[in-house]
Amino acid sequence: MVRIQEPNRFPKGHKAIKKPRFKNQMRRTGQYLKTISVLLCIVAASLSLPCDIFCESPDPHAGVRQQMVERQLKVRDISDPKVLEVMGTVKRHLFVSSKYASQAYADHPLPIGEGQTISQPYIVALMTQILDVQPGEKVLEIGTGSGYQAAVLSYFTDQVCSIEIRKGLAEQATERLKALGYKSVRVKHGDGYFGWPEYAPYDAIIVTAAANHVAPPLLDQLKMGGRLLIPLGSTTYYQTLTKITKTPKGNEVDHLLGVVFVPMVGEILGQ
Ligand code: SAH
Repeated sequence: MVRIQEPNRFPKGHKAIKKPRFKNQMRRTGQYLKTISVLLCIVAASLSLPCDIFCESPDPHAGVRQQMVERQLKVRDISDPKVLEVMGTVKRHLFVSSKYASQAYADHPLPIGEGQTISQPYIVALMTQILDVQPGEKVLEIGTGSGYQAAVLSYFTDQVCSIEIRKGLAEQATERLKALGYKSVRVKHGDGYFGWPEYAPYDAIIVTAAANHVAPPLLDQLKMGGRLLIPLGSTTYYQTLTKITKTPKGNEVDHLLGVVFVPMVGEILGQ
């Protein structure tokens, strides 16, 4: 019987590259890295850190979110780098129902259930820029809705309180914020007209529903030097985004721009 031998492709004394072993080593290294990343993920979750730092989580909306920052915010008057960064970070599509996810970064408000809406990205960015929250400051939001504005604010300070009058929305937002890792945001179901005295006074108060007057308890719960931002005017038509700064000489009032918000309800309407 004749045995056909494999021709020796290397001259004598030459060390052949052992490809299969190299491949196996690479595969094993890949497996180690994956295991390490899963472990880091578990550690991140238990420490309440955003898991994205370690996990491979391709975000199909990342491109369109950055486009929103470029085409809707930068070209208008959003110039605060931190606001631009945060707007490019928060996954807005996770704050609307999946049927609206593809429109989440479009230049308009979207329904969030119970006849309410999440404001267009530009308005969220603008209100955040005007509010100019500094680390450690205490912020109160009236009108949690989806929780998106509260999530955005939580990148500026770890002291964000938010009140929502509709129980279903309050519960949903609480769950959502928790699931997405925004554990520092406190949400309460109640009428924001009365503020949240437990954590007062606040450095900043943001009202994200249209009001025909400023609820006196909100002004009472504002720190001296604090600012309150509110869409003020008709609750059924247009409002003027108004900034009120509490000073020892009284309240300074700045009328900023025309806006349209869903109405603030409850005590403010005598309901
Ligand atoms: N900021 C929200 C959108 C706000 S829409 C977001 O980022 O998604 C306005 C919200 O204000 C609605 O959810 C509405 O239910 C709520 N609201 C209306 N009147 C309120 C009141 N008196 N107190 C608290 N929330 C109120």
